[in-house]
Parts: sequence; structure tokens; C-alpha cells
Amino acid sequence: MSANQHITRSDRPLPSTPSNASEVAADKRFGIVDCNNFYASCERMFAPHLIGKPVVVLSNNDGCIIARSNEAKALGIGMGMAYFKSKQLLKKHDVAVFSSNYALYGDLSNRVMTVLATFAPRIEVYSIDEAFLDFQGFDRWDLDRYGREICDTTQQWTGIPVSIGFGATKTLAKLANRLSKKTPGMDGVFDFSSCENPDALLSTVAVGDIWGVGRRWADRLQKEGVNTAFDLQQCDPAMIKQRFNVVLARTVQELRGVSCIELEEVQADRQQVLCSRSFGVRVTDFKDMRHSVTHFMTRAAEKLRKQNLLANVLSVHVSTSPFDDNNEYYSNSCTSRLVAPTNDSRELIRLAQRLLKSIYVAGHSYQRAGVMLSDLVSQRNLQQDLFNQDDGVERSDALMTVLDTINSQMGNGTLSFAGEGFGGGWRMKQLLRSPRYTTRVSDLKTVS
Ligand SMILES: [Mg+2]
Repeated sequence: MSANQHITRSDRPLPSTPSNASEVAADKRFGIVDCNNFYASCERMFAPHLIGKPVVVLSNNDGCIIARSNEAKALGIGMGMAYFKSKQLLKKHDVAVFSSNYALYGDLSNRVMTVLATFAPRIEVYSIDEAFLDFQGFDRWDLDRYGREICDTTQQWTGIPVSIGFGATKTLAKLANRLSKKTPGMDGVFDFSSCENPDALLSTVAVGDIWGVGRRWADRLQKEGVNTAFDLQQCDPAMIKQRFNVVLARTVQELRGVSCIELEEVQADRQQVLCSRSFGVRVTDFKDMRHSVTHFMTRAAEKLRKQNLLANVLSVHVSTSPFDDNNEYYSNSCTSRLVAPTNDSRELIRLAQRLLKSIYVAGHSYQRAGVMLSDLVSQRNLQQDLFNQDDGVERSDALMTVLDTINSQMGNGTLSFAGEGFGGGWRMKQLLRSPRYTTRVSDLKTVS
């Protein structure tokens, strides 16, 4: 059942309409909603017996731990820990372990975002599990109560627990969200503007935990005695701009409540589309390598079409493992420009296979391969070739649309190119992946 079907609500009051000119420039107010331990929460949604139990999710190829439930965090299981090293610990505490299931996470993320979009006039999907909401004009609202309603509704309609922070700027909203999760009693909702002693609160936040302050800047700032968010807020923005850069100067302003970072509803045009992966087992055969590159190319072309983009340039790369003592290291890539920009899988696959041939050297044990599409242009802005009377472009569009529609409705890979092969050891190791409950009919949960 799609989340969209539920969303008609008439009982929610609308933000007050300004009655005079001075109110037109209402104070800015942002909210950020963050899904709690998102991947682990997704896994639990279809395995409710795991609620309250430790859960971890592994990276591609089951390499290391990339998500942990609160119970798993409490056991001291670290982020990024190698799976093979932590197996004993996980077993000892009876931790539920899952391979990553991006089809499930992506679909549940869409549901969460659809629900969130009904709570504010504008939304910026910031990542798979975070969204900024615009609450300008909500001055007279009890945001604490509204925040609670947002969290309760999202959890009830999607099954995913979320937390929310409010602030006059995006940076303060982020900070409020962080505090809402770490401070007992706040229970996942916090409005920074309602805080009685903001300076004292800012003093409890380490400078490295501020949104946009990376590790390197944090180290440099600490060396100069700037240890907390309060310390940074007290710095002169002009001095910070001169000694660091304009981005950090903006952060100082944002900590002071001056909004400098706007809500971005439309994502900036992408510069590249990449599809690159480590293999489940080493690839030593050209046929297997050709299958894998064809598969990566197919996925990258799908991504391209989803964003209505065309590519001018295509690169293919292959490499062996740099840590493999028994084999000589080999890495190579090849790039070529297409005759005309395209997003037709057939054309891209043809070129990718040709490029692969020119860099593949037999005798190596390959660990990784990938494709990259760049010099991207929007399909809408494409300059048509004046002399091209051929209807090939239209036919190609029609064919690709049929392909994408069938695959999105009946599950990825329902229609695939013969060049991708079937099975093959190069496919990712995902021994512990849960079913794709929400995107594959055959994986639907059954109740007996
Ligand atoms: Mg999260």
C-alpha cells in the first residue's frame, strides 16, 4: 500500500496569513527530520520480533558494519567495524545481521518523504534518511507539539521512527536535532528557539559536531582554542572568512541565528553518474568481466534516464586489489566521447564493451570494475541535429521507457540485456539480505 493513499488531512490548521506588511518578512524557521538508525529500522519493520533487540546492517559485499540499532550501539559495536572481525561479538550477543537491501531502504525513504511533505509548504530531501522542512510563517505555532505530531504520524504511517529539530537556521536545526536524540527527556523533538539559555547549550556541543565542520577544520579550530559551538559563534565572521573560508564564515553567522543557507528544493544538476563495485569473488575471465561491466552500464543508464539526462562521455575502469600480495597490481581506465549525447542503454553498452576490451589484460585477478558517465546535459535542452531526419531518437526513447517501466513495476532485472549474463560470481556478496518486501511481488510478506 502506498503512503500517498493516506494523505488527505483537513484537520490541520494552515499557517497564519500575514495581516500587515511588517509581518510579510516572517522570521525564517527550519526543521530537519532524521530517521532514527534508518537501515536498522527498515529491517525491523518487517521483522517486528527484532524491536528492542540489537540489529546491524553490513556494507556492500558484507564488508563492514554501516548501521546499528541503539541496542547494538550500547554493546560497543563500532561504526565501520569489519564484519569478519566482529563476528564473535555479534554472535555472543545474538545480534541480528543483515546485508544492505537498498531496494527496501530507497522505497521506505520515499514513503517517509511523501508523508513529511504534507507537514510543510516546502521540503528539501537532504539524504536517504533526512529532509529539511521550511516553517517560515509558523511563528505562532507550538512547534514542540507540531514536531511531536510529525514524528507520531510518520511512524504510524510508515513504520519508521524519526526525530526532528527546529531552528532559525539550517545549522541550528541540525544542532537541535542532534540534541533531541542525545538529551534524555527530549524524546526526539527539540526547538532551539525555545531554549532559555542558548549560550550554555551551545557550550555543550563540540565544534566538530556542528553541521558542515569537517574533521580537518575541527582540528585546526581546536588548536586555536575554539572548542565548542559557543566558541565558534563568538568568532568574528570576517576573520574566519580570511583565515578559513566563506563556508565556515557562513556557519558562524548561522550559529548566530542569521540564515545564510537556503532550502534547496531542486537538486543541482549532477556532474557524473557512477556505477562501480567490488566483486563478490575475484574475476579472472573476460566473459565474466564483460557481463559485470554491461550490468554496471545498464544501471548507470537507468539512473541517467531517471534524471532526464544524456551523457557525452563514458569511462570504464578495472583494477585488481592493491592489498593482494600474491598478484601484481593492475589498474586502468579508458574514456571516450560519444558521437552524440545519449541515454540509450544499447549504445552505451556497445561503447563500454569496446572500451573494456582495450584495457582488459588477461592473467589478472580483478577485484573491481565500474563505469562513469560525465559531461551530462539535460534531455530538455538538447540541441537537435538540424540534418538528422532519422526518427531513431524517438524510437530509442520509446524503447527505453518501456524497459524502465517494466523494470520499475515488476522488479529490477525483469528485463535485462543478454550481455549482463545470468548469475555469475562477480555479483555482490549479500548472503544475509532480507527480502525486497516493498518492491517485488514475489517477496511480499505472507500471513497465514
Ligand atoms: Mg538517520
